[in-house]
Amino acid sequence: MLKVKTPEGYPPEEGRYARGNDYSPVAVCVILDDFDYRIPADLQELVMAGIDSGSALSGMLQTENVGTEKLICNIIANPNIRHIVLCGRESPGHMPGQSLLCLKQNGIDESMNIIGSTGPTPYLSNLPLDVVNRFREQIVTVVDMLCPPGERNTESPGLNSKMVEKAVWSCYQEEPTEFMDYTLYDMGAYPQPPILHRIVSKLEAVHPEAQPGKSAMGMGLKLKKLLPNTNCKECGRRTCLAFAIDLAKGKSNVDECPVLFQDEYVGDRQALKKLLE
Ligand code: SF4
Repeated sequence: MLKVKTPEGYPPEEGRYARGNDYSPVAVCVILDDFDYRIPADLQELVMAGIDSGSALSGMLQTENVGTEKLICNIIANPNIRHIVLCGRESPGHMPGQSLLCLKQNGIDESMNIIGSTGPTPYLSNLPLDVVNRFREQIVTVVDMLCPPGERNTESPGLNSKMVEKAVWSCYQEEPTEFMDYTLYDMGAYPQPPILHRIVSKLEAVHPEAQPGKSAMGMGLKLKKLLPNTNCKECGRRTCLAFAIDLAKGKSNVDECPVLFQDEYVGDRQALKKLLE
């Protein structure tokens, strides 16, 4: 089966995602329906489930335009990725999930407008047409597990971390595997070289503040593995992952977690401090 090494500089765009196994055929896209300074715990769990179960990239998509453009850039830089698992709940203000499904199904018109999107500004104006077309050809399936806006029930497939893990698992099977209404398997890499395309230069020109701190999610996921993961809230955060992301952003320090002072966590506390030096 064809698998390719990812190029230097992959993934080209920063964002709220974590990098997993580069040779995996699947990426997990969790729709973020809240402000990025208060990411809901249930959505954080989905990102974590995506990375723990073996996806290539697992992260959040907030907007139907620039967010989608960044997602496209990161996917086409890794031809091994052939499926996207779309989960979380739709963001009614941006409709990024519906827009992604429309992009795969319908493509874009001559104005770079995603055909059929109900988002307010579904324009991929920072990307050339061939980049968008490559994305649509490389991605074979968008596994639609997206929940409606406002859904909170974590038994719903798109908010259930076990179901997300099952979806990822199905995507990397060698034999066709039924999952929901899909038949999934790893068919190998897209048979064209990676494309390293970045949109940040245009973005930075317009929003110079747009970049700092955007990789905090990836670092936070790493740091979380060294935390007690009791979600006891004694640090003032709702979850250990929220605390880990604040650590990654430099907005908290390790000693704010009182649980880490217990004897059994001495080694983890030291390791965290060393990582953050
Ligand atoms: S105090 Fe420590 S264990 Fe408790 S939620 Fe915060 S980071 Fe997690």
